[in-house]
Amino acid sequence: MAGSSPPTIGILALQGDVAEHEALLRRLGVNTVQVRRTDQFEGLDGLVLPGGESSVMDKLLRLFGMKEPLAALVRGGVPVLGTCAGLILLADDIEGAIAGQETLGGLDVRVKRNAFGSQVESREESVVVRGIGGPPLDVALIRAPIVTRVGEGVDVIATLDGGEIVGVENSTMIGVSFHPEVSGDDRLHSLFLQKVAESQR
Ligand code: GLN
Repeated sequence: MAGSSPPTIGILALQGDVAEHEALLRRLGVNTVQVRRTDQFEGLDGLVLPGGESSVMDKLLRLFGMKEPLAALVRGGVPVLGTCAGLILLADDIEGAIAGQETLGGLDVRVKRNAFGSQVESREESVVVRGIGGPPLDVALIRAPIVTRVGEGVDVIATLDGGEIVGVENSTMIGVSFHPEVSGDDRLHSLFLQKVAESQR
């Protein structure tokens, strides 16, 4: 980021809840770009991998020749927020993948897809997230994954009452199982933008 100009955050826009992330980020005063091509990686200060369907995003990333460059960008240290399917894309390892499903990796965790059951078992929860003050976040869990293994350099930032891990971070990535953008609460995005600001110091 040059001087005090707002950062530019890319939102992977192949599939999923792109518009909701875009609206929240714009409200927080940053520039946003809907990323559909590799040449749009240039100049991004951060990246959001939205919720949606991780196996579809994986297929499209490979079809469009974006998977390797995106994996390199993510592993290269650009700050990334992955929500739900986005968390699955970041995970090194997945349980319940469809045949041939791959991830970008870079976040040393194992996630279990659809850990709470099907769409009808989607629900809302209040979740305390480390680093976020005020009341718990009201979030939606929609065919959500949970984190079943946390590797070195990864911290747990959110758990449900039953102990399920639904939020993690490492030095450049935040991954959550839930959708903060559905309720419109912007505090997780603010936390992410702090990471973006720190990476530019
Ligand atoms: N179950 C989806 C997947 O595996 C994730 C759901 C979501 O992003 N809301 O990609």
